[in-house]
Amino acid sequence: MSFTSQNMQDLLESLYPICRSITGDGVRESFEILSKFIDLNVKEYPSGQKCYDWEIPKEWNISDGFVENSAGQRVIDFKKNNLHVMGYSSPVESVSLSYDELVEKVHVLNDLPDAIPYRTSYYKSDWSFCASKELLESLPKDDTYTATIKSRLEDGNLTLADAILKGQSKEEILISSYVCHPSMCNDNLSGVIVAVALYNWLREKRDRHYTYRFVFVPETIGAVAYLANHPECKENVIGGWVLTTCGGPGPIGYKETFLGDSFIDKITKYVLSKEIGDYKHYPFVPDGSDERQYSSPGHRIPVATISKDKYYEYDYYHTSKDDLDFVNGDQMQVTFELYKKCVDILETNFPYFRREPHCEIQLGKRGLYPNTGGGHKQLAGSSEDFDPVDAICWYLFLCDGENDLIDISEKAKIPYDYVRKLTQDLLDKDVIYRNE
Ligand code: ZN
Repeated sequence: MSFTSQNMQDLLESLYPICRSITGDGVRESFEILSKFIDLNVKEYPSGQKCYDWEIPKEWNISDGFVENSAGQRVIDFKKNNLHVMGYSSPVESVSLSYDELVEKVHVLNDLPDAIPYRTSYYKSDWSFCASKELLESLPKDDTYTATIKSRLEDGNLTLADAILKGQSKEEILISSYVCHPSMCNDNLSGVIVAVALYNWLREKRDRHYTYRFVFVPETIGAVAYLANHPECKENVIGGWVLTTCGGPGPIGYKETFLGDSFIDKITKYVLSKEIGDYKHYPFVPDGSDERQYSSPGHRIPVATISKDKYYEYDYYHTSKDDLDFVNGDQMQVTFELYKKCVDILETNFPYFRREPHCEIQLGKRGLYPNTGGGHKQLAGSSEDFDPVDAICWYLFLCDGENDLIDISEKAKIPYDYVRKLTQDLLDKDVIYRNE
């Protein structure tokens, strides 16, 4: 199926309520939903397994968590919002707290007093709650409170998944997103959903050149575990994109790969400059999402990111306000279209060689004078003003096995789609060929 913005909205609404973490049933439940749209291979790796410098942690699951007042009423309740309990909180059995003690155990946001913050403690045993500052301050200071967290931290598994779409080439493009955040939309459901949309669009595309490896992992530990357990990535993956925070109402941004000038950067920049113009450009830094792992020594896979309201930069980042009001299908559609364009160009942006590499090609004898109809200066259906004869002359002048189609489009100022059409015409007439 081809994903519409309504499909993305529906998927967002069905994934949003689930309490995900880096391990546990929330991830499995999310994969069950995603499996309706994508042929996922779900894989599990046991707690304690060594993955490079990391170790798979214990599996965490939670069924409930609350703070009660002395009347037995829940004043902070995991069942109302799963952000209320810090991720990976250890179990707590009815611990009695004064108001002052409670304050020590509840994270709030001073700058956003009506939002619940998102907090985790994956690698240090601890427990706490998160609440809006307004809620905490509204509680009577002379009351006593009881904290309970029904969580389990035990040997289990880390769950991740991939899906491969085979192409003609063994060379692979990585499309990676992460599945470890509880109820928040831009970070991280938007990345997962745009990846699923991209998968569905690519699956329909016939004659794919590249093989596409879609990866859904809990952030950091999941990417490390994936790379450690999939040595073939090192052989085959040549570049890709990490999909994150791509569904907010704010600006489009591009985080470059660690190389800054890889083929992925070239394509992403080309698409954004044509489609968006003044997008935000973020240089590579070794923080952010799973580009930290893919780009690292031993792997060095160039991966870029197109964001819409990039992590760290929007006010609602890692709070309960990154919700279904903040993100919607239409906003995700904008980024989906950009990624589609990138992949579309990736699939066609090759350098070609001329069969006759010397001097000019004689256009007339090969029937290469464009049939321009009435207009000489403007192509039917195109708003761009260029001369089709000039276009083919430029094309054949630049066609030397060095310039790819983006180079020809940029240097000759011809729209990419027209360069592509010319390429097909010249291939059909056996004037050019591609080194495979
Ligand atoms: Zn995050």
